[in-house]
Amino acid sequence: MTIPRTVHGIAEGIRKKQFTADEAAAFYRARIEQHDGRVGAYLHVYEPMSSGSADSPVRGVPLGLKDLLATKDAPTTCASRILEGYRPPYDATAVARLRAAGANFLGKLNMDEFAMGSSNENSAFKPVHNPWDLSRVPGGSSGGSAAAVAANLAPATLGSDTGGSIRQPASFCGVTGLKPTYGRVSRYGLVAFASSLDQIGPFTHDARDAAIVLSAMAGHDPMDSTSASVAAEDFTTHLTGDVKGLRIGIPREYFGKGLSPAVEAAVRKALAAMEEAGAHLVEISLPHTEHAIAVYYLVATAEASSNLARFDGIRYGLRVPDGSLVPTYKKTRAEGFGREVKRRIMLGTYCLSSGYYDAYYRKALEVRTLIQRDFLAAFDRDKGAGVDIIATPTSPAVAFGFGEKSADPLTMYLSDIYTISANLAGLPGISIPCGFSAAEGSSLPSPKAG
Ligand code: GLN
Repeated sequence: MTIPRTVHGIAEGIRKKQFTADEAAAFYRARIEQHDGRVGAYLHVYEPMSSGSADSPVRGVPLGLKDLLATKDAPTTCASRILEGYRPPYDATAVARLRAAGANFLGKLNMDEFAMGSSNENSAFKPVHNPWDLSRVPGGSSGGSAAAVAANLAPATLGSDTGGSIRQPASFCGVTGLKPTYGRVSRYGLVAFASSLDQIGPFTHDARDAAIVLSAMAGHDPMDSTSASVAAEDFTTHLTGDVKGLRIGIPREYFGKGLSPAVEAAVRKALAAMEEAGAHLVEISLPHTEHAIAVYYLVATAEASSNLARFDGIRYGLRVPDGSLVPTYKKTRAEGFGREVKRRIMLGTYCLSSGYYDAYYRKALEVRTLIQRDFLAAFDRDKGAGVDIIATPTSPAVAFGFGEKSADPLTMYLSDIYTISANLAGLPGISIPCGFSAAEGSSLPSPKAG
């Protein structure tokens, strides 16, 4: 009995009674047991559960969940000591919808602590290894979600993307990663990092699966006031395979200094294939791109400093008692948060403090608007370039080695340059594999972990 790698393949096999949902889940659990010791994608593996009977495109499909999604039947740690042992009393809406649609859950996936990072080296528990080359990082912050799909330790997983945390690890691990439009998927039950940027989205092997998983969890949710009041739809109906006449914007600011020649070559080759298939390539400009990193690291840290204030040792997870209340707060936070999280809380608190608010935070919000306007102009048919989509590299280089960037936070932050503007503008983004980089040593035929 072979279990297909894709969501649509598994759902079809179950429907046609080629295998049962329990057999599909058992197949993945066995793979996790056999290979995850080397990959490190999972923080918690579920006991076998019975899948729902709803007739849906995800019925019986086993899925992995990033460990910042609240699950009523498993711990939710955000890969942080401060949440060790925390069990939420409810499911995140995205999780609840998939559960109601009959999906099976395999486990909770490793990540950078509180989703802060680009390499998964910030997990408080263990690193995740890139299945294509175990000496390299899988990207972050949803490193476990990306590596699990790449190593076939789950046919699809959920991650979250605040500044690239779905798209960048998807590109490092050679899988598909979709960040939906802000507001498309409810954030209820997603542990907040930067609430105006966070979105939940799927990691899959192909675009069809991304559409299927998104369709099963999208749609308005009264529990999230920022969720868009747009009805859920079946996104697979858009998969026509036809790109004739599609206007693809190529922003010149994304193909300049710092882009690895191997990545550029792969992207250009993919664009040429699109042109061959009938699309038009249109050079465009997104002039405020150079400010995106500065804006993001002000807005995201400001929101994080306020969101993470709730972890005080009283309500959730870890408590390190120290006499009275305030010393207990201090000790719990000092011991519970890792270095990167503390750095972000301090940066965010600083830029929100009186005297600096106008100089940093308010200024960042103004430039954020300019970044949004760059995109509006590019999509505008009357006054702008009128493109339908914009194509860019996901990351300036392929997966790097452990320790290569972790000593210098700024270098790590700079590698987010191609992904964060979409979050600042609220736009959807998808990372699709378009090749390997032989020059940088990873033209491997199949993931090493099996
Ligand atoms: N790498 C970015 C950061 O560290 C993005 C993280 C994310 O999207 N959660 O903030």
